[in-house]
Amino acid sequence: MTAEQPHHRPELDRLSLTGLEVFAHHGVFDFERENGQLFVVDVELWLDTAAAAAGDDLSATVHYGELAVEIAAAVAADPVDLIETLAERVAGVVLAHRPVQRVRVVVHKPDAPITVPFGDVSITIVRERAAVRAESPEAVRAVLAFGSNLGDREATVKAAVAELAATPGIEVLAVSRLYETVAVKPEGIDFDAPGYLNGVGIVSTTLGPTALLDVVNAVEHAHGRVRAERWGDRTLDVDIVSYGSLEIDTPRLTLPHPRAGIRDFVLVPWLEVDPDAVIPGLGRADALLDLIPETTLRPYVGETR
Ligand code: ATP
Ligand code: CA
Ligand code: CA
Ligand code: CA
Repeated sequence: MTAEQPHHRPELDRLSLTGLEVFAHHGVFDFERENGQLFVVDVELWLDTAAAAAGDDLSATVHYGELAVEIAAAVAADPVDLIETLAERVAGVVLAHRPVQRVRVVVHKPDAPITVPFGDVSITIVRERAAVRAESPEAVRAVLAFGSNLGDREATVKAAVAELAATPGIEVLAVSRLYETVAVKPEGIDFDAPGYLNGVGIVSTTLGPTALLDVVNAVEHAHGRVRAERWGDRTLDVDIVSYGSLEIDTPRLTLPHPRAGIRDFVLVPWLEVDPDAVIPGLGRADALLDLIPETTLRPYVGETR
């Protein structure tokens, strides 16, 4: 017998999106953080449409309009020191799309603080989907908490759930009712701030935890979320409460969410969709809820006139 037939790999399709301009606040200097500057992003995607069609995900290609919005949102999100970090974030957003096998990301910083005349400065990275993940994606159960206290709160949360459900690699398994809650500020309960609608969703995802955070951040930004003061009013907040049994603490992501266990507005809707909910490392959600003395939250019944 001859050696095994070489695995036939069809030529990958290629999609490129160049010159995406985003104003953002990345950089190591205080003035860069304060004033912001222009960032320009190019991405080139290699898509395996055959694999997408063969799997249970039938979205055979990537919607470049949506992708552009997601990338812009990721670039505009929380400031980082280095364009290398930014490029990684963009690669994560792109690779969150299942059909994408490989991505090349170029981040340009044409107005970087350099004391001699220059044309452009940029970083280029190439990232590939881990083969094992592409071939046998193992789905993980993750719990997401939604909150909104500005605008049409109910419509925003519902749209966010729909956008997550439409994201390749995310399947929405259950969504709780919405609950009306009072705003909490660092100083305590703020009865003057607009009230929140809170809810919890359970998803099954083949995305890694950071890719999932990229997706929820992109959804927040698509709904006009801006981060000003801590716990400030917001159109949409989506937190990852838990990701399987994972316990991690990185600068961008702490899992499980460190404050989920003391928040009735997380525990109550979560228990509604999963009475046996457990916070990894902490214990049962019902037992944690019993430790919270008083709850002001009540099921949302629509706008009262
Ligand atoms: P809280 O975290 O107390 O609910 P918040 O939701 O208002 O506050 P944000 O401004 O939305 O806080 O998030 C601040 C940062 O928290 C984000 O930039 C994100 O990187 C980080 N973060 C860490 N762990 C998580 C997590 N489990 N889910 C979502 N964001 C997280
Ligand atoms: Ca999906
Ligand atoms: Ca939150
Ligand atoms: Ca948040």
